[in-house]
Amino acid sequence: MDNYEKNWENALGELELLISKANFTTWFKNTFIAEENDGNIVVGVPNAFTKVWLEKKYDDKITSALESVLSKSNLQVIYRVESKGKSTNVSTKPVDQGIKKITPVYNSNGNSEKVINKFGLNPSYKFNSFVVGPGNELAQAAAHASAQKPGALYNPLFIYGGVGLGKTHLIQSVGNYILAKNPEKKILYINSEKFTNDFIFAIKRGQTDQFKEKYRSVDVLLIDDIQFIAGKEQTQEEFFHTFNALHQNNKQIIISSDRPPKAIQEIENRLISRFEWGMIADISFPDLETRVAILQMKAASKNYNLDQDIIHFVAANIQENIRELEGALNRIIAFHELNNTRPTLDSVKSILGGLSTNPKKAGLTSKKLLGVVAIFFDIHMDDLLGASRKKELVVPRQISMYLMREELKASYPNIGRDVGKRDHTTAMHACIKINKMLEINDKIKNDVAVLRQKIYE
Ligand code: ADP
Ligand code: MG
Repeated sequence: MDNYEKNWENALGELELLISKANFTTWFKNTFIAEENDGNIVVGVPNAFTKVWLEKKYDDKITSALESVLSKSNLQVIYRVESKGKSTNVSTKPVDQGIKKITPVYNSNGNSEKVINKFGLNPSYKFNSFVVGPGNELAQAAAHASAQKPGALYNPLFIYGGVGLGKTHLIQSVGNYILAKNPEKKILYINSEKFTNDFIFAIKRGQTDQFKEKYRSVDVLLIDDIQFIAGKEQTQEEFFHTFNALHQNNKQIIISSDRPPKAIQEIENRLISRFEWGMIADISFPDLETRVAILQMKAASKNYNLDQDIIHFVAANIQENIRELEGALNRIIAFHELNNTRPTLDSVKSILGGLSTNPKKAGLTSKKLLGVVAIFFDIHMDDLLGASRKKELVVPRQISMYLMREELKASYPNIGRDVGKRDHTTAMHACIKINKMLEINDKIKNDVAVLRQKIYE
């Protein structure tokens, strides 16, 4: 990483604390430092619209973040439309990755623009602002039940799913619900990264007793993104004891993660087995109807009226991440408010540019994908979907699942169902496995690259 990148990443870390996650992702994606000389910084931005927006809305914040990172005063920041690929060879959305990397470190509350109360809860995350659909209904039902009878039903409740699918919203809803009914309850919401930092800090200061008291005296512990304690042995040890103390006293524990317990690597078995004691619920991608409903609700909460065809266009084009869906909505609203116009399908298309569906991709189905894989490896479809564990069949099967995930953005349960009615964990392991193999096995890498083309032919 060069200096520009490092400085920008640090500045983004500061900015992220000041603005909401949706806005942060919307406006700072694909931005970078293009030039740096003494009193001037040129920030590269992906389009003219972002340029105007950063100049109007965030210039102060960006300038002071850069001033603090560079320990300089009176910096002049200029915004220029430029793509990062031009100045370096890294074309794989480097800043985007930077954002993902720093997210858990700097922003444990998920939404720092809103008031966060002393329990770590953001009051806007409620059950009644959470749209329920097939992808999240199990998790929602379990969370709601736990909120009604904390400690009595599922303990722990373990919720897992991809980025931006509502895990934080859901577990915070439990806290807000319990608190509204019973303000005496001690609720603690914390990201596992913050838990780790708190613990390290306590050790350094010789305050481990206070630490234990803080975490073991709560009525409800909501611990977000537990996967970040992977590889941190001491923290795991401490969390293990915290868990036991709470569990023994029937205190509700709710854990979120980006993957199921068994798929978290470098985490002690005794913790994994505890995570599996209660109930495990996954959240998968929202279907079109759910995305439409979410957009309608978010637009209504901002008192913004959007036509149905526009809502459908956005929902049809952003499928995998509700945070991005919200980000798109914010962009649409911001753009039209700025220009004092009403959104039309055309203006929305141009704002969200690059989003429009790829007609080639739109024709791909899991059936077609499986057919192409079977022909490519010269095996029968029945064998590809069947139960045989022969290597010549297992690898193509796993590659199929990987491609369904990557290209079709299918949920693990759906992949499992389509590939011989397998369990969703099998699908997930297949994807993890192929991901690893791609790094070390050139044959598989080639096969996957060729198949990626062939499925669209
Ligand atoms: P995660 O923690 O899984 O990464 P978040 O809970 O932060 O995701 O959700 C990202 C954004 O999407 C939040 O603003 C949240 O309010 C919104 N969101 C996610 N799922 C839903 C839903 N089912 N209904 C309404 N809003 C949702
Ligand atoms: Mg989250």
